[in-house]
Amino acid sequence: MKSTILCAVAATLFALFPTLASAQENEDAEPRWSIAIHGGAGTLDPDRMTPERRAAYEAALQQALDAGSEILANGGSAMDAVQAAIIPMEDNPLFNAGRGAVFTWEGTNELDASIMDGRDRSAGAVTGVTTVRNPILLADRVRTGSPHVFLMGEGAEQFAVEQGFEVTPPEWFATEARRRSLERMRAEALSALDVDHKFGTVGAVALDMDGNLAAGTSTGGMTGKRWGRIGDAPVIGAGTYADNRSCAVSATGWGEYFIRVGVAQEICTRLRIGYNRETFTGREALTELERVLNTMRSQRPNKSFQQTVIDSVMAEVAELGGDGGVILVTPEGHALFSFNTTGMYRGRATSDGVNEVAIFGGHVEAEASETPDH
Ligand code: ASP
Repeated sequence: MKSTILCAVAATLFALFPTLASAQENEDAEPRWSIAIHGGAGTLDPDRMTPERRAAYEAALQQALDAGSEILANGGSAMDAVQAAIIPMEDNPLFNAGRGAVFTWEGTNELDASIMDGRDRSAGAVTGVTTVRNPILLADRVRTGSPHVFLMGEGAEQFAVEQGFEVTPPEWFATEARRRSLERMRAEALSALDVDHKFGTVGAVALDMDGNLAAGTSTGGMTGKRWGRIGDAPVIGAGTYADNRSCAVSATGWGEYFIRVGVAQEICTRLRIGYNRETFTGREALTELERVLNTMRSQRPNKSFQQTVIDSVMAEVAELGGDGGVILVTPEGHALFSFNTTGMYRGRATSDGVNEVAIFGGHVEAEASETPDH
């Protein structure tokens, strides 16, 4: 009797989730790749953005997305794709990273970046850099060329010079628009959010055809930051995380809250525990129904389950009073977003033909235009 009921339940579940039935088929399918990028989240109002400005952002996002996609489509690595996508955004003054970074209280531009390789969880990060044109490249060199993970300020710059990086005049990073934001902030005693309404950090996450994940993030931080303030972007586990067993995440938002929640690693951990069959079959108290459910998750991780997990972590950020967003790719190639602001500059592309950039709206709107769960 008991087994009849369980069989009925399992049959119903297979009917409800047809992707499970094709798990074997999918294992034999072509290798797939996937990439998602962001250029910051925040209060973005379509009525306050001119068509020209919107077109400029969309073109810049598309350029970054194409740079990463091309590498992945040609069999390149997720690590290379992440850097290729971030570099044009660091060089573009529209974004708060590299050129166009926000100003500190003292009127300088101090850059942060981090990168992580999901194959072995090797990571590199820099903070407070003022003379390296592409901080994401320096973060990666910390990962590959030093025994450390995280370098700061002058030490990071000394390492850069020793590694053959060219010294960039600090003026390269400064733009008039960002300087005006700082001046307004100082004159009117405003907060960083009052003058910017958005964050503007850039990031990329990717899955390559070998099944490897990578994540990277780069930023100028928040306007008027002082006392050596460091946000989440260069903090591995907060703004960036990649682990082949679960996901790759890059975040943007009010960094203090993302550090407190440990957003990027928290999402990966919840996804890993959520569909790791070993974790669950080891529990004696596991019911047969739980076993069926967890087998489903382990065989064919379900996109709506993953979206729920990501949203649950972002809900914690919101509960504490923070806002922002994340981009994420999974080992199956799902490219997902979650944000609790009115907009996030973002884009995604996959080997299944998805290729889109967007600015406003939530993940629901983005989901609707994607190909079916694969
Ligand atoms: N998260 C960054 C920080 O707090 C800001 C951003 O996302 O733009 O420094």
